[in-house]
Amino acid sequence: KHEELTTIVVFGASGDLAKKKTYPALFHLFQQGLLPRRTRIIGYARTKMTPEEFNKRVTSFFKATDDPKDVTAFLKICEYVSGKYDVDEDFKGLRKEIDTNEQLMHKRESDERVHIYYLALPPSVFVSVGTQIRRNVYDGSCTNRVVIEKPFGHDLESSRALSKSIGALFAEDEIYRIDHYLGKEMVKNILALRFANVFYEAVWDRRHIANVQITFKEPFGTEGRGGYFDEFGIIRDVMQNHLLQVLSIVAMHPPKSLRSEDIRDRKTEVLRRILPIQLEDTLLGQYVGTRDSSRPGYKDDETVPKSSITPTYAQCVLHVDNDRWRGVPWVIKAGKALDEAKMIIRIQFKDMVNALFPNLARNELILQVSPKESVTIKTIVKEPGLSTNLAMSELDLSYHKRYQDLKIPDAYATLILDVLNGDHSNFVRSDELDEAWRIFTPLLHQIEKEEVVPLPYEYGSTGPKGADEFPTERAGYKPTAKEYHWEPKTA
Ligand code: NAP
Repeated sequence: KHEELTTIVVFGASGDLAKKKTYPALFHLFQQGLLPRRTRIIGYARTKMTPEEFNKRVTSFFKATDDPKDVTAFLKICEYVSGKYDVDEDFKGLRKEIDTNEQLMHKRESDERVHIYYLALPPSVFVSVGTQIRRNVYDGSCTNRVVIEKPFGHDLESSRALSKSIGALFAEDEIYRIDHYLGKEMVKNILALRFANVFYEAVWDRRHIANVQITFKEPFGTEGRGGYFDEFGIIRDVMQNHLLQVLSIVAMHPPKSLRSEDIRDRKTEVLRRILPIQLEDTLLGQYVGTRDSSRPGYKDDETVPKSSITPTYAQCVLHVDNDRWRGVPWVIKAGKALDEAKMIIRIQFKDMVNALFPNLARNELILQVSPKESVTIKTIVKEPGLSTNLAMSELDLSYHKRYQDLKIPDAYATLILDVLNGDHSNFVRSDELDEAWRIFTPLLHQIEKEEVVPLPYEYGSTGPKGADEFPTERAGYKPTAKEYHWEPKTA
């Protein structure tokens, strides 16, 4: 009988991502009994740390409610190795550590050995670390998986160069490119909704759908971390990756099976049918401080150059040129320092052509990805009571009301579980990545070359001038009457 012997090496274990996401996710899986019985987790980075310092750091984002006994048991399968990212001896030492651990975990000939290399590192060291792994750690007799984090380049050319370098070291089926939106509950739910219910797929096309909006809003600005953001801007940070990934799942044809390559083939087909986005189809903004000075502007962030024209807000309209979607505008929008925290997919249906009830408002299907997961269908009903008027209402599946004691796992826990299972469905394939950059690169280059100045918007507002009207003017979105209001229910 094959049994797994698993080693997870977290490179950059001293860093922010490791502390905030990777280790809490690994711990969550451990608590749930979802790590293979024989698993060893090795943290690796340059910083010198005692075991106590390391333990303190990687548990600093665990929940206060976590059982200390579980934490102690988890730390027993963890260790830390300090080493450089380009020194052969250090990586040979790492390999030795892995081998020793495997012996201690009672390695048998029949065991299936899995080595997972999680690169929680800045991209500047990806290739150096990858090269070292390949040269001094990689063991061809076991299953190897390499997890990498965005940014995967900053335009088509640099992304291709990175893919080429990484591709020379590892096979595509060994690489897991994380886009953590693909680990979010409601994003994973899109496949189930679309392909496990008879009525969604029946209306999922240009004959019934008028427009789609995919929106990401953050209620805070860069808050002292703008130096990093300024090199990227909102289009690279959120749109080219997260929002486009979500779009491709909403738009894709049914995959032949739920096998990861079938799903990724279908997603890539969608991206191939999207023309590069034009500047004319885009609205760009950058936040400024509030009038009462209680909130700073983007350029008040000490780490941001005073002359920065990096967009912190963008909205654009694009088209998927295939038979299913021709003529349906897709609006994607993302912004920092806005009025609320929200990620939402809004699918608006066409007008009901009906002699009985003229001038009806439009149906919408709304998937709220965050903060509170919900699926809602805006539905017209007869006003209850003696009235014969119509009213807008909703079929409401608020997850936190429907499911008692709902615990939605962090996206990183579900994605790391996928890596452990060797499931690539929720990771970005290199051809998908290439298409995503093809769609955005001409726009990004034009913005930079022509030094397009973004429109100002006040911290905490709904965006720059024209933002609220953009979906209507550019995509034919018909807003529901203002009196209608709905929020996901929590109890
Ligand atoms: P980080 O804290 O800046 O870096 C991780 C570790 O890498 C550091 O502790 C440091 O370890 C080492 N390091 C930092 N700068 C380096 C340099 N210039 N040269 C060599 N080593 C360096 O990064 P992070 O925030 O954890 O992010 C890691 C990766 O995840 C990045 O690709 C990032 O874009 C991505 N990511 C992060 C987040 C997040 O929430 N933080 C979210 C999504 C994606 P030593 O000095 O000890 O070696």
